[in-house]
Amino acid sequence: MRKKIVAGNWKMNMTPAKAVELIDSLKNEINSNEVDVVVCPPFVCLPAVLEAVKGTNIAVGAQNMHFEENGAYTGEIAPSMLVELGVKYVIIGHSERRQYFAETDQTVNKKTLKALEHGLVPVVCVGESLEERQQGVTIDLVRLQTKIALKDVTAEDAKKVVIAYEPIWAIGTGMTATSAQAEEVCAAIRQVIAEVYSKEVADEVRVQYGGSVNGGNANELFNMGNIDGGLVGGASLKPEFASIVNYK
Ligand code: PEP
Repeated sequence: MRKKIVAGNWKMNMTPAKAVELIDSLKNEINSNEVDVVVCPPFVCLPAVLEAVKGTNIAVGAQNMHFEENGAYTGEIAPSMLVELGVKYVIIGHSERRQYFAETDQTVNKKTLKALEHGLVPVVCVGESLEERQQGVTIDLVRLQTKIALKDVTAEDAKKVVIAYEPIWAIGTGMTATSAQAEEVCAAIRQVIAEVYSKEVADEVRVQYGGSVNGGNANELFNMGNIDGGLVGGASLKPEFASIVNYK
């Protein structure tokens, strides 16, 4: 039985002080052990958030990292820096990073491998644009994104990866995929993992849905057979995040 995982992607929002206020407002509401809960603040908020979540069930993730160990990569953050702070998860290949920062399926693969090497759980984002959905290529595209992201990842490591299916047209738009649309693609992701590895691996990998998840739609989405929780943007900045975590 896969444990659900709900992660909040704060994007470029909050300051360290505001981040602590948000955690303080959430922590009494988030106390179930049934769901893995992760918040992914901006890098500069990580130390304050790691301190604020102590004694709670909330884990902390980063929104990105570099695939090199260290070196002359001005402005970048290495995996060992995250690990030393106590970060456990890292979002890889969010569509905003693909769109605005030229990340590709190949850099996503390099980052996924490097995150796993350092014991970080990669939350690998895949998903189609509206145009791609209208062209009918969603499943092929998401299958390919998933395959490339997992290239050279061992079966044991693949089990640790979280895949976030995030249709680009649903991110920050208020246009949620229907539960049937989300389920269809999440099932296809699990299917491609079964083909590349085995059914056993595919049954363990957690596949999230992301795209305008909120307190009103989380229950229906997260109760679909192949949807193991969500990656939440806008609603993760509000107390509403607790009602998404406590979706039942
Ligand atoms: C996201 O940023 O990953 C996301 C899904 O955003 P939102 O929930 O705001 O659509």
